[in-house]
Amino acid sequence: MSKPFSLHTAAELADAGLIDPASRSAIEKVGAIYAIALTPTVAGLIDPRDAQDPIARQFVPSAAELETQPDERQDPIGDEAFTPVDGVVHRYPDRVLLKLLHVCPVYCRFCFRRASVGPGSEVYLSASALDRAFAYIAAQPQIWEVILTGGDPLTLSLRRLEDILQRLTAIDHVKILRIHSRVPSVDPPAITPELVALLRACGKAVYVVLHANHPREMTAEARSACAKFIDAGIPMFSQSVLLRGVNDDVKTLEALFRTFVECRIKPYYLHQLDLAPGTSHFRVPIAEGQALMRDLQGKISGLCLPRYMLDIPGGHGKVPIESGYLADAGEKTGFRITDHRGAIHVYPPVKAE
Ligand code: SF4
Repeated sequence: MSKPFSLHTAAELADAGLIDPASRSAIEKVGAIYAIALTPTVAGLIDPRDAQDPIARQFVPSAAELETQPDERQDPIGDEAFTPVDGVVHRYPDRVLLKLLHVCPVYCRFCFRRASVGPGSEVYLSASALDRAFAYIAAQPQIWEVILTGGDPLTLSLRRLEDILQRLTAIDHVKILRIHSRVPSVDPPAITPELVALLRACGKAVYVVLHANHPREMTAEARSACAKFIDAGIPMFSQSVLLRGVNDDVKTLEALFRTFVECRIKPYYLHQLDLAPGTSHFRVPIAEGQALMRDLQGKISGLCLPRYMLDIPGGHGKVPIESGYLADAGEKTGFRITDHRGAIHVYPPVKAE
């Protein structure tokens, strides 16, 4: 039997029954601008009879992507302004992003780097650019953490990844390596014992951050891929994006965050969707996101609660945007505190000694 392959074109999506053949020419137009890929795992998760399927919505292109709103931009979180050398984003003092490649096993239809990932971009950072990136990191003693991203770093070959890890391990002031990936859920067989052993043996504290947005992505295979990291002593965190029609309701978010914790993955961030081009059909207003987080706050264990985060457009960094629970009520009253049911309480002023 031939091995199932990833789907990359409108024709392949139509043949697989994942798009209406009538929309094929619109999807071809989308594909000419933004990369398309669905792994066999992801394609197999989609229910083609469900027009609202939350997995399809994340990965199957739609004609809505052809509409770019005035506020949307090619570089929504302003990486460019903080790129001292190719492949490095240095926005905060103690950490850098190292963007090693521009390919992913799947292409999310809401991707914040959609203008720079996928076919047409340089696949890997060139050898000379990589040399300059390592030289930059080595020359900045305040860099404590390196975040491997891209594209998806867990699609690198073991040989390439080993070389990168060895070069980072040689930089003494770098203590933490963080890897952001969708691979454990979209291509679980790629999490091999050899890959896990490589990360385990690299000599730095390694963390893996899984990007997943709907509980159905956490299949038995995905859970067991994650367990390989965790059982090997590599902690995992999650990051999710709040997406219209995917996870913009309390029930789905609750199931998603509980599932992560059951898999021993700490929910880390729920991102407000960045202003990437052609993504407005996914955007949930911040006030709605805050209300969802308030509902969750009163409902689920603190272990399950991520921070709700906004990357300020233009490169000004991330900030938590949960609604405020605390209001200064003046010297005499102290603070007014709103509980998760909306009731107000007073916390008295603390007198200075
Ligand atoms: S995995 Fe990340 S970088 Fe790749 S398409 Fe999805 S959001 Fe973009």
